[in-house]
Amino acid sequence: MKCPKCKHIDLNPVRLEEALVASGCSQCHGAFVSLLHYRDWAERTAALHEVPEVKLLKEFDNEDSSGALCCPKCQRLMSKFRISGCSANRLDLCSSCDEAWLDGGEWELLKALELTREMPVVFTQHWQNKVRKEVSEAARRERYSKILNNSDLARADEFREWLKVHPQRNEIMFYVGHD
Ligand SMILES: [Zn+2]
Ligand SMILES: [Zn+2]
Repeated sequence: MKCPKCKHIDLNPVRLEEALVASGCSQCHGAFVSLLHYRDWAERTAALHEVPEVKLLKEFDNEDSSGALCCPKCQRLMSKFRISGCSANRLDLCSSCDEAWLDGGEWELLKALELTREMPVVFTQHWQNKVRKEVSEAARRERYSKILNNSDLARADEFREWLKVHPQRNEIMFYVGHD
């Protein structure tokens, strides 16, 4: 198999973790991971907590398919799934082979987000909805940061967080909004 990014570079076995082998590219440090092997590894090493069973999205409409990569195994286009709202990194999934492509550094990113044991959740509708929400929330905050000064925005954020989980949210909103 060749690297889907570097094209002419061969993929060779690499270890993402002690007992998790993937096919890696020595040039871009990307890795092609079988979800079957991954699942086996996650289950063997999870010890105490259950590895969640998730329903992967088979058909996923990409926001942009411009940078879509071809699966190194079957050559079909892979789908891109954003990992989180606060980074632009996306995992690529071939749903016919059930294998995922991680760019160099993305395994480390999953680690930082404490997602290495639950990687397949990234490929679910629930996760992608969550990411979309985070992205639009970040864009909204960005717009307000242009009209509010930092300390006011920080106070407003603090108030919102407090309000979000308050059982008397509506009463407080009414009280605050009413002169
Ligand atoms: Zn490469
Ligand atoms: Zn494939």
